Amino acid sequence: MDRSEYQIEDDNLKLKVIFLPFLSISHIIPIVDMARIFAMHDVDVTIITTTSNAALFQSSISRGQNIRTHVMKFPAEQVGLPVGVETFSADTPPDMSPKIYAGLEILRPEIENLFKELQADCIVSDMFHPWTVDTAEKLGIPRIIFYAASVLSRCAVHSLEQHEVHTKVECDSEKFTLVGLPHELEMTRLQLPDWMRKPNMYAMLMKVVNDSARKSFGAVFNSFHELEGDYEEHYKRVCGTKCWSLGPVSMWVNHDDLDKVERGHHVKTQGEEEGWLEWLNKKKEGSVLYVSFGSLNRFPSDQLVEIAHALESSGYDFIWVVRKNNDEGENSFMEEFEERVKGSKKGYLIWGWAPQLLILENRAIGGMVSHCGWNTVVESMNVGLPMVTWPLFAEHFFNEKLVVDVLKIGVPVGTKEWRNWNEFGSEVVTREEIEKAIGVVMDGGEEGEGMRQRAKALSNAAKKAIKLGGSSHNNMMELIRELKELKLRRKPQ
Ligand code: UDP
Repeated sequence: MDRSEYQIEDDNLKLKVIFLPFLSISHIIPIVDMARIFAMHDVDVTIITTTSNAALFQSSISRGQNIRTHVMKFPAEQVGLPVGVETFSADTPPDMSPKIYAGLEILRPEIENLFKELQADCIVSDMFHPWTVDTAEKLGIPRIIFYAASVLSRCAVHSLEQHEVHTKVECDSEKFTLVGLPHELEMTRLQLPDWMRKPNMYAMLMKVVNDSARKSFGAVFNSFHELEGDYEEHYKRVCGTKCWSLGPVSMWVNHDDLDKVERGHHVKTQGEEEGWLEWLNKKKEGSVLYVSFGSLNRFPSDQLVEIAHALESSGYDFIWVVRKNNDEGENSFMEEFEERVKGSKKGYLIWGWAPQLLILENRAIGGMVSHCGWNTVVESMNVGLPMVTWPLFAEHFFNEKLVVDVLKIGVPVGTKEWRNWNEFGSEVVTREEIEKAIGVVMDGGEEGEGMRQRAKALSNAAKKAIKLGGSSHNNMMELIRELKELKLRRKPQ
């Protein structure tokens, strides 16, 4: 991509923007992509993070872009964490989560000092650093909130807070319709995050986050107009602040294979991906199902068994990204299963972490089973895949509504209950339910074909959105123009 294509008229007005990611993989990945988009537009970019988190993206930003990373030492000893455990991921033991938050709190004065020293024109802050809005105000610069979530999910939360329709139903499984949204979306109380059902510490944090959003200059989303246009307008109107969709961010900046493989992951050995690639390259176009549940999830053994049986009896070829629990019975079941599907060449298991962007763009992939993590939903738009939706935690159930009811490119597996990311919950989806949903998505019949066509149309729209004149490209130019205007007003030349 020719950098000059992105250069904004006035070189004397170079913007300086600081990005402050949260310490979890799925928040770091898109905000770093976004920082790279700003850098492409000739913005002077600094990302502030801790040592281990910087290692997750350092090589991708070192290739070809002028972005600085300011690395801070995480106070592991002070909070009683082993060195290097400072990222929320599927490997974070539940008792360590509060310690990561405590470490972040210790780092706050250092970050505030950095904001002052760096003399930036704007702070783009992850939603989970709500205090940055006050710091930005003291410095007289705009703060933009980054949500690693869909616009629809923010509108849904706002609707529930305003109208409290979920408190008016008789029981947790009774359906209600979200009030005032552009589409008629039905949910149950069981599908809402626990903090919305019963106030807890997280509810207090979310209140502070929401207050900080209202005081911000605006919000940036990894989305695009053709995907969530109705909700962008709704957000602006109801939440009362500006918002800019700048996605799909992954497609905008990750062009070569190394970018795609290293995104959010330390590559340990060269050629780590070759096995799956060789396997996939032998498969027919659109014939393989990709099954993955993001960076945070771990399933209990009985759920893994159900998934394994469903995949095998569905008859479709599959790649399954799976995490072990080190439970003895499960280990032997999974080992036998892996041996069997390897032998029949029907399935390929990737343990732990997969180069998702690379896999998804392989022509053999025809559909996916997804937990509806927002990054994954948007990444599936890059390539136009229909999906089996299997929401688990965070805002996944809202995202499922977008995929299934609004965009009509997904089939629900039928999960009924929200659970915490680091708990198993009590719900086990049966092999029959899983197999049935897979059948619809992978089948060549009318329903599957319709979803595939709509997904392809969205993929085409996504590609246009980030090109010159496209919706996200225009949003980016408009945001930079507004930030430059603010800078000019602050420092008359
Ligand atoms: N991801 C990946 N390989 C994996 C698991 C996840 O590359 O094995 C990436 C995926 O492409 C996405 C992010 O990690 O960008 C996961 O974010 P998402 O919002 O989908 O889910 P979460 O991790 O928050 O549950």
